[in-house]
Order: sequence, then C-alpha cells, then structure tokens
Amino acid sequence: PIKESQFIWRSGEMVPWAEATTHVMTHALLYGTCAFEGIRAYETPHKGTAIFRNDAHAERLFYSSRIYGIGIEFTKEEVMQACRDAVAKNGLSSAYIRVNAYLGYGEMSPSATGCPNELDVIAFALGQYLGDEAVQQGIDVCVTSWRRTAPSTIPAGLKMAGNYLSSRLITTEAKARGCVEGIGLGHSGQVSEGAGENLFMVKNGKIYTPPTSASILVGITRDSIITMARDLGFEVIEQEISREALYGAEELFFTGTAAEVTPIKTVDGFEIGTVGDNPVTSKIQKAFFGLFSGETEDKYGWLDPVEG
Ligand code: PMP
Repeated sequence: PIKESQFIWRSGEMVPWAEATTHVMTHALLYGTCAFEGIRAYETPHKGTAIFRNDAHAERLFYSSRIYGIGIEFTKEEVMQACRDAVAKNGLSSAYIRVNAYLGYGEMSPSATGCPNELDVIAFALGQYLGDEAVQQGIDVCVTSWRRTAPSTIPAGLKMAGNYLSSRLITTEAKARGCVEGIGLGHSGQVSEGAGENLFMVKNGKIYTPPTSASILVGITRDSIITMARDLGFEVIEQEISREALYGAEELFFTGTAAEVTPIKTVDGFEIGTVGDNPVTSKIQKAFFGLFSGETEDKYGWLDPVEG
C-alpha cells in the first residue's frame, strides 16, 4: 500500500492528496505518454534531508520527455525545486519522489499535439522496495521468458510509464515462480536488466555490467555505483553478459533508486558464489549507504538538501 502524504505538487500548486485526480481521457492514460522519474530523499546527519542526484533525474526527465514530444513548462531548476518542496511541504525526513511529465486531456490520437503538458511531483514515505531484508540478506531471482524491448521498438533508454508493461510481465512471471524479481534478456539473448533495476556481476574480482546497447535504462544508481566502484579501485567493465555467466558469477547485485544496492542470492535456482559472503557487494553497499550516513564523503556533490 502507498503511504499517502498530505500534498502533491501539480504544475506549481500544492494540492491535497485526495484531490490530485485526472480526467479519464488523459492522453497518458490512453497511450502511455508519461515520462517519469523515481527519486529518493534520504535523512542525513550532515545535510538534513537531501535528494540523491536531483539534477541527474531532472536531466533524464527532460531527455525522455523531449523524444516523445511532452513539453515541460518549467526549467530544470524549477523541477528540482518542486522535488525539494514536495518533500519539505509534507514534513518527510526521507521519501520516494515520483515525478510525472505527461500529456493531459485534450485530443485523442497518438500523434496529438494539442494536449496540455502536465507535471506532477508526488513525495511519500517508502521503505525497502524488494522487501525488508533484501538489502541485507539478498534475494532469489530468475531469468524470465519475457525479454526487454528490442532496439528501434520502444526505447528502453527512455523512462516512460509505458515501458513498465515489459517490467510488469517480467516481475509477475518471476513472482509466479517464487522469486522476488525477474531479469529480462535483451533482443540478442544476452542479459539486459531487472524489471526495475540494473544488474552487476562480479567475476575474478572485476565488476561487469551490461552496456547501454543491451536495452537497459541507463540508471542513475548504476552510474553512481560505476563511479564509486572505480574510486574504490575496482575495474568496472561495461560488457555483454551471457545468461550462463550469471550462474558462474562470484557475486551479483541489483542497483536502482527503489532497490538501492540489493545482493542476489540465487538465479534460476543456482547459488551465486558463496551464499552470504559478498565481499565486493558489501564494500559497494558500505560506500553507497555511507553517502547518507555521512561515512562516505560526498565528493561528487550528489546530495541536494531539501532546505537550502
Ligand atoms: N532499469 C529499470 C527498468 C528501472 O525501472 C530502473 C529504476 N528506475 C532502473 C533500471 C534503475 O534506474 P535508477 O538507478 O535511475 O533508478
């Protein structure tokens, strides 16, 4: 269940949660024309409540929107401020922030150009996405029969609501098979990503992750982990990964705004490395969560305090 907060930011106005409704003929509902972001704000001892990589999310929102002809009638800085305001106005110390840029009610046709541009920012409390123990204990996952969208179909690199039809098929099949999450293969048959997470593999002490050509969403957490892992002295290689390579991995983990850094215990029933012993993943988790506890220095300027 969603933990409702009090107010939702809608195109510059704070609207009570229950009143933030939309028309049934909204273009985004008819045709999936909604670009979005999922962002986290963390409670930190040194910077108060701070949004993680607010600017990178705003950047990606504008990118997704532009390709689909969804206008955003605010500047990037205004969108970032809306996120800060949505957290602060609701008195949240930590939050998940969902930003939707979409075509509203106006015309009915996929090529419509006369629909209003809508922008909503919804901040609410969210715990650990893949279950309470996932980040500590790791999860069981499987490779599903559903693949990610192929290149030149629906671009996986843009974060659009409609793309999550693919995620729904993948994650639902995985759950029906008793797993917490599913991994989709790309069009080529190589590994792509989780239904809502990027994937990393550790082999011979090196870290591998599928390249942007593997029908992935280029995750902001993925980028953060690549940067931090290299700073920690790891070699990080963006390279195609075969399904069977997963089974022989020393360690596997997912990254994502909601999933954060979640270790994977088994894939298709194969135990990964030595269960419970994830030295590389542990180091990366420590560095990542340390950003929010203050133990890792934010030398990248990734924390954006809600109250400047
Ligand atoms: N892949 C997919 C399909 C996702 O939905 C997400 C979550 N947004 C990710 C990867 C991770 O992206 P990020 O780190 O930017 O949240």
